[in-house]
Amino acid sequence: DVFADIQGPKVTYVPPPPPEEEDSIFARYETGINFDKYDDILVEVSGHNPSQAIVTFEEAGLCELLSRNVSKSGYVKPTPVQKHGIPIVQAGRDLMACAQTGSGKTAAFLLPILQKLLTDGVAASRFSEIQEPSAIIVAPTRELINQIYLEARKFAFGTCVRPVVVYGGISTSYTIQEVLKGCNILCGTPGRLLDIIRRGKVGLSKVHYLVLDEADRMLDMGFEPDMRRLVASPGMPSKEHRQTLMFSATYPEDIQKLAAEFLKVNYLFLTVGQVGGACSDVEQHVLMVTQYSKRDQLLEILRTTGTERTMVFVETKRKADFIATFLCQEKIPTTSIHGDREQRERELALGDFRSGKCPVLVATSVAARGLDIEHVQHVVNFDLPSTIDEYVHRIGRTGRCGNTGRAVSFFDPGTDTPLARSLVKVLSGAQQEVPSWLEEIAFGAHGTTGFSPRGTVFASVDTREVFTPPPLCSSTFSLNEVSSYSS
Ligand code: AMP
Repeated sequence: DVFADIQGPKVTYVPPPPPEEEDSIFARYETGINFDKYDDILVEVSGHNPSQAIVTFEEAGLCELLSRNVSKSGYVKPTPVQKHGIPIVQAGRDLMACAQTGSGKTAAFLLPILQKLLTDGVAASRFSEIQEPSAIIVAPTRELINQIYLEARKFAFGTCVRPVVVYGGISTSYTIQEVLKGCNILCGTPGRLLDIIRRGKVGLSKVHYLVLDEADRMLDMGFEPDMRRLVASPGMPSKEHRQTLMFSATYPEDIQKLAAEFLKVNYLFLTVGQVGGACSDVEQHVLMVTQYSKRDQLLEILRTTGTERTMVFVETKRKADFIATFLCQEKIPTTSIHGDREQRERELALGDFRSGKCPVLVATSVAARGLDIEHVQHVVNFDLPSTIDEYVHRIGRTGRCGNTGRAVSFFDPGTDTPLARSLVKVLSGAQQEVPSWLEEIAFGAHGTTGFSPRGTVFASVDTREVFTPPPLCSSTFSLNEVSSYSS
């Protein structure tokens, strides 16, 4: 994605404009039967002097326009990550937040940011040759950052705050025009964001908030250099002078340690449920297969699910094309998305899937994180990913916002054995049945020799308590200061 953002022939694609009518801006889907069960999930906040959680949106003290937009979005009460995250952000604290997929992380950072901009009387957005946003939000894929942008635009509706989105695969001159029209909140994928900054269109000295969504992905090997470049860009306030917020459903330990470099030393660590845990509203099944039986089994599954929306994940771009073609030949309306597609095609594919025109979407990891698509009832891991965190994100495309969903994964012992042990852990962590053959592979004589701790669900806590805390605050993070309560 990064390289696609900055290389290749000149891109002229201009995406269709976002919706203008209020009904489309606030279009939403219903919360599911398990929405209220979110309240039973154990929440932990660790770090010095945590903020008191809120129970209702009223307690967040949002201004009238924002409250109205929250109601119009159909939000009646906050989810746990919102109950705890909103006051933490409002208290000016840095945050590393971990909450299960589909449980409302986006509003947990957007609402307090918008509230602050509005109460501080942020300069109304207007045309200028150089824009100075108050907030920068980064996410790993174009489709996800666009989704976050649309959420920001929804919550900012009727206010003077103007969010803008920048990502690769669309015309740079169009992007620059959009930025120059006014930009209070800048949402971007790393490559295009850095490009716009380098071109001198965006000044960073007024940045108060830096948000990393899918933070563990933003700091892993692929994106870490870009994040370092971003925080070292001219004008960007140091971590002491900005507020840095990180959100994800997974945080491998090594990434947590790295993340601390971007955060003030007294950041709060918020955990809703288990770090790296799967959403328990997703029913998980694992089937033992061989490479050659996968296609037939997929067909069988799709024939029974009918027109229910299903995402099928595969490991390679070529395979995504191949499986999508195969399904179309079998008369199953299918579309596909991967990183080698032109942006126009990517957006079209996602649109056809969202609308139900093509109820099956074959995807690579590019669609694994963050995407919030109504009615996705099934996820099929045609190929299992190589890390368990990736698995947790993929199956999290269903079972969102208290709705239930189903995930079926094809396990080929020839290739997937290294994942067995962490898969067992995630299944049992989410109270799912673990097939005995899988347990045997995981812990039996054959062992999981290729098992690597990277990307496993070991980090069940704020790792500051496991590793030596930073010297300045060695007494700050003792276990007895961990406030643990049910929200
Ligand atoms: P997110 O995890 O931020 O992608 O949110 C998942 C879905 O839940 C989105 O469709 C949100 O609009 C929705 N959502 C988030 N918070 C709430 C809430 N408090 N009440 C109802 N729906 C919500």
